[in-house]
Amino acid sequence: TDVLGDQTTRELAERASTVLRGLGVEPPETGDLPARSPITGGQLMTLRASSPEEVDAAIGRAATAFRAWRTVPAPVRAAVVRRLGELLTTHKSELAELVTLEAGKIGAEAAGEVQEMIDVCEFAIGLSRQLYGQTMPSERPGHRLMETWHPLGVVGVISAFNFPVAVWAWNTAIALVCGDTVVWKPSETTPLTALACHSLLRRAATDVGADPEVHQLVQGSAEVGSRLVDDDRVALVSATGSVRMGRIVAPRVAERFGRCLLELGGNNGAIVTPSADLELAARGIVFAAAGTAGQRCTTLRRLIAHADVVGPLIERIESAYQQLRVGNPLEDGVLVGPLIDGRSYTAMRAALDRALADGGELICGGERVDGFGDDAYYVRPAIVRMPAQTAVVREETFAPILYVLTYHDFDSAIAMHNEVPQGLSSAVFTSDQREAERFLAADGSDCGIANVNIGTSGAEIGGAFGGEKQTGGGRESGSDSWKAYMRRATNTINYSAELPLAQGIKFG
Ligand code: NAD
Repeated sequence: TDVLGDQTTRELAERASTVLRGLGVEPPETGDLPARSPITGGQLMTLRASSPEEVDAAIGRAATAFRAWRTVPAPVRAAVVRRLGELLTTHKSELAELVTLEAGKIGAEAAGEVQEMIDVCEFAIGLSRQLYGQTMPSERPGHRLMETWHPLGVVGVISAFNFPVAVWAWNTAIALVCGDTVVWKPSETTPLTALACHSLLRRAATDVGADPEVHQLVQGSAEVGSRLVDDDRVALVSATGSVRMGRIVAPRVAERFGRCLLELGGNNGAIVTPSADLELAARGIVFAAAGTAGQRCTTLRRLIAHADVVGPLIERIESAYQQLRVGNPLEDGVLVGPLIDGRSYTAMRAALDRALADGGELICGGERVDGFGDDAYYVRPAIVRMPAQTAVVREETFAPILYVLTYHDFDSAIAMHNEVPQGLSSAVFTSDQREAERFLAADGSDCGIANVNIGTSGAEIGGAFGGEKQTGGGRESGSDSWKAYMRRATNTINYSAELPLAQGIKFG
């Protein structure tokens, strides 16, 4: 018999309904889109997916709202985001609970995700007074040359299940202060957190007297997303998800000369050198590899350790893995919650089988933890020692498998590190400054994120977030990522009585 069965699913559904009501959302009654909880694998409720006509209408409303929103001064636009940040602070624990119920994250990580939303709101508020353009010296007397940043238009946000709320906030807080309006297509796996965020944002807009139509929510699967992808009224498609999705989305947006911001899969590696502090490295590695049950885009999947330290390092990680409690993420002390669904589990098993067929040695983990229901998939995080970086290691399997590879010289470690198609996050653990700097240099890590003595996951919002190669090249969140959400105009102003031409051209 199941420890967590129908009874528990009913309880979870009640909790979800209560949380939704607390956030001002009447729980949906019926529809064709199921909202599941990976905690039991059961269905919490169903809601209606958006029809093609509804998606078109939502884009239309966002496009209309944009016409006025773009003329509101940016620091005034920030009032919506400030209010959103306040509402998120007030409702942090409820929203985090919904993230746990729907995405299976443990409480601390779910709360961290909501904190990230609050942080990016603060960032966006400050940014609203810093949407700087440059002025350049003109080559002509009596002329001024400058650039101005203007709002871009409707931003279509397509997001993944594993950061159901933070990725939306990264995009939406920045897009709104930049003067854009947003149509959001969340993952079909996490429709309830989306209802909650949408409601909070609309409330924030209403509270400060702004137009709530600046934000639209459409729900459903890939077909709903593809309507955003193909619609000329959507100026920027910001899509987070698998490389497979990006391969379909990017050429279609390019075909209509729209803009794309892609945040796709990672296959993140860490190099551990002989001078590394192994205790610190092991702690960083365990969080990065097993945290969120291996379901972060920045999860550590490849450990590249020097031959002199690989043995003791594996021992430390293995012993930390034995202590990890796998189970119901609503319970205190649990560090590893469920996989999102059965497909993830099947993919994990298939990857492990391939790795072992390639000569890999299973150090620990990989087995399913029973007692949570037939449709709930809990696994013990796995460590597999690999003789070489075979094809399966070069793929992203979205589950907690840590492949361990061995190196002898630092150049070959960097080469092995970069020898995968993805380029999101990376790390080196070392006390040798030469190695640390080399890892960060032009001929070091080829990733969008390169860290020293910190794991690959858990980025702060202040930096630009994103990766190279098949990760898609997009940057979101901090630094100057806002530029993707605006259009640039170069302005030349002649305040003289002459009309000199550039490059000294004489005409007539
Ligand atoms: P997924 O690709 O299955 O789905 C992501 C989103 O894209 C969903 O909303 C889905 O409905 C939509 N989608 C899928 N096909 C589409 C299409 N043809 N047209 C329009 N929309 C489409 O990904 P997932 O399983 O939800 O998430 C896991 C993946 O996301 C992993 O690969 C992970 O690395 C990646 N991810 C990347 C980042 C990042 O910032 N780089 C962040 C989180 C997750």
